Amino acid sequence: MSSSRRIAPFLSIVIPVYNEEENLRPLWNELKKILRKINGRWEVIFVDDGSEDRSSSILEKISRSEQRVRVLRFMRNFGQTAAMAAGIDHALGDVIVSMDADCQNDPADIPRLVSRMEEGYDLVSGWRRRRRDPLSKRIPSVVANWLISLLTGVKLHDYGCTLKAYRRNILKNVHLYGEMHRFIPVFASWAGARISEEVVNHRPR
Ligand code: UDP
Ligand code: MG
Repeated sequence: MSSSRRIAPFLSIVIPVYNEEENLRPLWNELKKILRKINGRWEVIFVDDGSEDRSSSILEKISRSEQRVRVLRFMRNFGQTAAMAAGIDHALGDVIVSMDADCQNDPADIPRLVSRMEEGYDLVSGWRRRRRDPLSKRIPSVVANWLISLLTGVKLHDYGCTLKAYRRNILKNVHLYGEMHRFIPVFASWAGARISEEVVNHRPR
């Protein structure tokens, strides 16, 4: 039968959080709306990276209101990469989407990344073509993107965009440390993953 209803893959959304008390509610409200439209199973994993503000109690409340939300909590601040690695380790989905908690990434882009994955890619990386950050962030990042492309032979415009979708099995052998989350596409590509890029929305902090 050709017209079978398409069911999206089981999706895990991994979100590192460090002192984001003012952003978590708005983020969760946006995310909820988008997830309602996804025809399939999903979970959201917030990784509280030792926040000192009210983030942890806000996350607690969100997870009590929705059982598909899980919260992991570090006793101290380990940094974004460690937080992402922990979230990825706990993710159950076939497809993992990582994003920032500061509302700069737009949850409305998630379905598009996921449908690109359904075309057969192993990693779809967000490209903040209109990046809404100060020049002091954009300039080093242009240099870094150019250098990484040159040195690794993996051509992406925007390694630093946290909004990415990965097939879980390509992450199994990638061990993350330092600031390495930006290099996942490089290791994945070396391991034979099919990689694509998708323009995503970016909003000022
Ligand atoms: N973050 C984290 N641990 C840290 C610093 C940041 O988990 O030590 C989280 C932060 O809450 C956000 C994401 O990682 O969700 C990206 O952080 P930030 O926006 O500061 O980085 P940038 O967007 O400037 O790369
Ligand atoms: Mg940010």
